[in-house]
Amino acid sequence: MPSGRTHDRITLWSLPFVTGITFEQTQSSKLTLLVAGAFLFSGLMFGPDLDLYSVQYKRWGWMRWIWLPYQKLLRHRSLLSHGPIIGTTLRVLYLAIWLGIIVGITTSVWCMQWKWQMLAQSTVRSLTHHSTDWLAFALGLELGAMSHVISDWVSSAYKRCRNQRWSVIPHGKMKKKKSLARVTHRSKPATTKNRQKY
Ligand SMILES: [Zn+2]
Repeated sequence: MPSGRTHDRITLWSLPFVTGITFEQTQSSKLTLLVAGAFLFSGLMFGPDLDLYSVQYKRWGWMRWIWLPYQKLLRHRSLLSHGPIIGTTLRVLYLAIWLGIIVGITTSVWCMQWKWQMLAQSTVRSLTHHSTDWLAFALGLELGAMSHVISDWVSSAYKRCRNQRWSVIPHGKMKKKKSLARVTHRSKPATTKNRQKY
């Protein structure tokens, strides 16, 4: 599995491509901004690795605790966190539940009259009136998550391949190779380059 820093680099390197392709396809700066912004948000702090103590998790700062139940409930790299579409959908629903709880607590503490029905109505209205914008945002989130999942998958496949290649070499040959390397290493005068390397 690539490190958090590698995932960050992949997200930042992919960003110009995502932005360019979106603008070329939509010719809309608003939609491009939504896709690129959501891609960046998803890649840096709303990605699948919120299911463990990760860079993404730490970026939530003092709010990071909201992801603790998520980590307890889901196994790392399970389909529910790293699966296509389902991973992002579950995270959005999970965050929406927490936002609802936080809004509910805040309004009751400040004795504010909060009309849940009105909130639900305005959410539905926004989703229907600005469906293209929401779709662009959702696409950006999913692309960010997928760039993470694909790099996880490629890294695991590479490691598996490398381990298999090593296991194919018979043990006797490995020993012979090692002893040969030791002999050649000893016979060589220790140059500055050799000293640095070993
Ligand atoms: Zn991952």
